[in-house]
Amino acid sequence: MLAPALANADAPASNASGADPAVLAQIRDAAMNSDWAYQRLADLADKIGPRLSGSPGAEAAVAQVAAAMSSIGTRVMLQPAKVPHWVRGIETGEIVRYPGQPAGITQKLVLTALGGSIATPAKGLTAQALVVHSFDQLKAHAVEAKGSIVVFDIPYDQNLADNGQAGPAYGEAGEQRFRGPAAAAKLGAAAVLVRSVGGANYRLPHTGVTQWDDGGTKLPCAALSAEDAMLIDRLAAQGAVTLHLTLTPQILPDVESHNVIADLVGREKPDEVVIVSGHLDSWDLGTGAMDDGLGVTAAMGVAQVLQSLNLHPRRSVRVIAWMNEENGSRGSKAYFESVKDSLGTQAAAIESDFGVGRPLGITASATPESMAMLAPAAEVLRAIGAGVLERRDGEVGADVNPLQQHGVPGFAPLIDSRHYFDYHHTAADTLDKVEPDVMRRTVAVLAVLAYTLAEAPDALPRVPVTAEK
Ligand SMILES: [Zn+2]
Repeated sequence: MLAPALANADAPASNASGADPAVLAQIRDAAMNSDWAYQRLADLADKIGPRLSGSPGAEAAVAQVAAAMSSIGTRVMLQPAKVPHWVRGIETGEIVRYPGQPAGITQKLVLTALGGSIATPAKGLTAQALVVHSFDQLKAHAVEAKGSIVVFDIPYDQNLADNGQAGPAYGEAGEQRFRGPAAAAKLGAAAVLVRSVGGANYRLPHTGVTQWDDGGTKLPCAALSAEDAMLIDRLAAQGAVTLHLTLTPQILPDVESHNVIADLVGREKPDEVVIVSGHLDSWDLGTGAMDDGLGVTAAMGVAQVLQSLNLHPRRSVRVIAWMNEENGSRGSKAYFESVKDSLGTQAAAIESDFGVGRPLGITASATPESMAMLAPAAEVLRAIGAGVLERRDGEVGADVNPLQQHGVPGFAPLIDSRHYFDYHHTAADTLDKVEPDVMRRTVAVLAVLAYTLAEAPDALPRVPVTAEK
């Protein structure tokens, strides 16, 4: 973490950034007094609901966002991207045999298919459970894995999240979902169940995508509620446990979809853009208010706030509503392809995809020398408790990551993420989880940051790329 004090005091902070602190304060206050972005979120979450790539909801969302951005006078473009089209089907599970089972008793499991799962036979499949708590354990039991339903039971570490490390907590527990099914498929497993990746359990299953190897075997796979993963683990510790699983999702042909791009055209360097973005697609269980309705509509709100103040910074502020972050990142890839031969035009990229807590400041994946330029922004945001400037290396958001991998400075709001993974990718990701006040604060952080980056006389230096992620 870098204190926002200037190491080099030769130039006043306002000169280093080019942004007038009084204007930044106006932007902050306009954002804190606008509910435009929250209304756009209500439109997305309550009028459309789930927006998984390829679904009618995703297409309705493209049209809705494009219309909203046109209505405030930005220059709107739809950028085509072919996206996967996976649809959920029936999903049921039961524990059908277990130690100490009374006659006639089976136990119902609460589960939901993972994105990319294939179907079981229509009548389901029955196999013995192999519970593992790590990939090493899976390897050690490779022989038993063949023909079995592998159950990964790796808990999400809420203690990490409670101490500001929700990202690493998600990454650690998430491996079972990202890579578990492919690893078990290599060993000849019949199906895979993973423990839901998230906190605050409430017996809610958390979906999400799993990653298959190119040309590798695919399996039926689902996320169990944490409670049911623990139940299977307790029973399996006493002897053989047999599960019955029915999943009928379908992988349909790819569908043409779009990123929505809306430019607030810059006054001096219109061809140079500062991206401010979130993703428009969502999982299908909830209404995607947190992930990432809040992020995408907060980004839209930046343009509305700047328009309302009639501010046109030096560079263009480019709002992007990304398509297909959740299960393919095809929108992100299509955008990168479209700018890869003119990367000098991509001055900076902001993404907001860490929902729903209060913003505390700014995370910057930028060079250490760049941080001084952000000091006036931090100073202005301190008044709303969002004055922290945190510099760190690496990805700040999945959609802007290809740009970051080529040296474009990346930014995100720094967010209290203790409870982000409570409802992440569940049926409970709904509008009531988003406080209008959090939305206003998020727009304020994004708008002050975007204006600062777009108004700077000189673009920020490129970030040396160390390791491919
Ligand atoms: Zn997201």
